[in-house]
Amino acid sequence: MLEIYKIPVHTPYPVGPVNSYLVKNQPYTLIDPGPETAEAKQSLAEGLTSLGVDLKDISRVILTHSHSDHSGLARWLNEIAGARIYVHQFEIRKLTLDYDFYQERLSFFQEAGMPTEALKEILNDSDPVGKPVLPDTGVTILSGGEALRFEGGALLTMHMPGHSDGHICLYDQEGMCLLAGDFILKHITPNPNMEPDPINFTARLPTLNQYLGGLDLLENLNPRLILPGHGNNIDNSREAVKKAREHHRERLKALTSVLENNSISVYQLMRFYYPQIKGFEIYLGISEVFAHVDHLLAEDRIIKRKSSGVSLFKKKSGCSSG
Ligand SMILES: [Zn+2]
Ligand SMILES: [Zn+2]
Repeated sequence: MLEIYKIPVHTPYPVGPVNSYLVKNQPYTLIDPGPETAEAKQSLAEGLTSLGVDLKDISRVILTHSHSDHSGLARWLNEIAGARIYVHQFEIRKLTLDYDFYQERLSFFQEAGMPTEALKEILNDSDPVGKPVLPDTGVTILSGGEALRFEGGALLTMHMPGHSDGHICLYDQEGMCLLAGDFILKHITPNPNMEPDPINFTARLPTLNQYLGGLDLLENLNPRLILPGHGNNIDNSREAVKKAREHHRERLKALTSVLENNSISVYQLMRFYYPQIKGFEIYLGISEVFAHVDHLLAEDRIIKRKSSGVSLFKKKSGCSSG
């Protein structure tokens, strides 16, 4: 049986603390150690001490995804404890020093019709935490479907994209417990982050479609307990899946009605919903709207036309089926 303990770790982000998890079976393993800040190091060290574990006892670090609130301390644990780091292949490039998150998404911002001023606003909203970077050695690349073994149990890696394309969840089959990272949270809906296709960088991944597919998997798995990357545990996984599906269904419905008589860009749609948001939140808003319009387009419910490189969307006219 695996012994899994939650350690809330301080982050400077509006989301609040990130949940790091210690698997206290040999080899001692941390899932998502937290961001690379002095406060996070302190909360992690104190949390481990209260569980009778020293930082140097950590042999493995598993990252659910590359976001800095989850991944930043991985390299530090590799340095001070020699911990091996496990991460999905699609997150590797995002954890290198040269990785330029916005450059990779520039063509999507242009397609969204984003004004230069708004793009500048995003770029000027610098991350309070330095870029998370993997060490040169000691990294194991995952694809999903691996069994990571412990004395007394195992965690199965599950590739669950939609929030980040290389996002994994970890399943303890015996305890029917899912370590879910940011795939599903109790009180907020994870952002379907805009992602280029790692095979063809000019194309956008169908993030909402991927996410809804993951919800189907989660519904079938029906874990007894979900341990999320932020906030409280989820003890009714079917209810959480239902709520997440409803959120997106409502949003798709609302978007379709806005597009009824208008032919508008993703940036205009985003401003319709979020007139006041600033900085990095503009990126999150654009990501969310793109995820939804891409989904509606794939379902043939809206049409797209291009005008000066900007995609304009409108509800499909014609007969509606009952
Ligand atoms: Zn995240
Ligand atoms: Zn997070």
